[in-house]
Amino acid sequence: MNHFADLHIHTYYSDGSDAPANVVEEACHAGLSVIAITDHDTMAGVREAQDAAKQWGIEVIAGIELSTEVAGKDIHILGYFLDLENSLLGAKLSDFRATRTQRIAGMIENLKKEGINNITLEEIQANSKTDALGRPHLASALIQKGWAGSLGEVFNRFIGDQCAAYVPKYKQTPFEAIELIRQAGGVAVLAHPMVTNRDELIGGFVDAGLAGIEVYYPNCPDAAVSYYEGLARKHKLIMTGGSDAHGKNKTNTWIGKRRIPCELVEQLRIRVKKQ
Ligand code: AMP
Ligand code: ZN
Ligand code: FE
Ligand code: FE
Repeated sequence: MNHFADLHIHTYYSDGSDAPANVVEEACHAGLSVIAITDHDTMAGVREAQDAAKQWGIEVIAGIELSTEVAGKDIHILGYFLDLENSLLGAKLSDFRATRTQRIAGMIENLKKEGINNITLEEIQANSKTDALGRPHLASALIQKGWAGSLGEVFNRFIGDQCAAYVPKYKQTPFEAIELIRQAGGVAVLAHPMVTNRDELIGGFVDAGLAGIEVYYPNCPDAAVSYYEGLARKHKLIMTGGSDAHGKNKTNTWIGKRRIPCELVEQLRIRVKKQ
């Protein structure tokens, strides 16, 4: 029997909408044998998912998704097989979450200049399961208070990249992220290269210790997949993939929409041992 994995899933501990236990149950119903929880800047959902997974008999890999920037371009780096107890990783993630909170506070202040003065950080925090706040959490508050009717409207009018109230997120470099993941015992993988579209940088990431590349990603044309399979071979990178599911009604993807053979997970595991 073939076994499949989905190595890119978010929970409500970052900007997803589902509890880790629900993610695991859905993964099981989708026929998956292995999943990775890859929340932004937090590993808070991993243990809960691993505990829930015991009753379903599936494996949950400890993962992360880190936002980085180089040459003005956003690059997302995934980490797998992380040591949940690693102190440097824990401290850095905690710092990143603190800067996220400051950023949301900054956007709340900016919104006041536009007459939106009934949004508070405290209520956003009270309504979120996570301390890894992002614009979606602020967007929910704006919708709840009636300032906009939809997520699209919130981003168009108030907090999109081009809006006056927008505050950029603090980001480390991809090289720092790769090192942070490696020193925590993990393997680093370049997330959704077809979205990032900066393939000329990949060689430098490989030199810095990148182990894999997310070749299999939702809504990616076959030709692009073939192209990234070729790039993976060229750079001797392990091919990975996943759904980037954020929960119900969030984006046009769901758990198991993109899955990979577990054989590729084994390649990652072997690479972890070699590092
Ligand atoms: P952040 O990482 O805090 O800057 O927030 C980025 C997230 O906001 C993305 O991952 C999306 O989930 C969401 N987002 C960005 N732009 C839009 C948009 N135009 N409509 C709806 N959601 C958006
Ligand atoms: Zn996300
Ligand atoms: Fe991403
Ligand atoms: Fe993601």
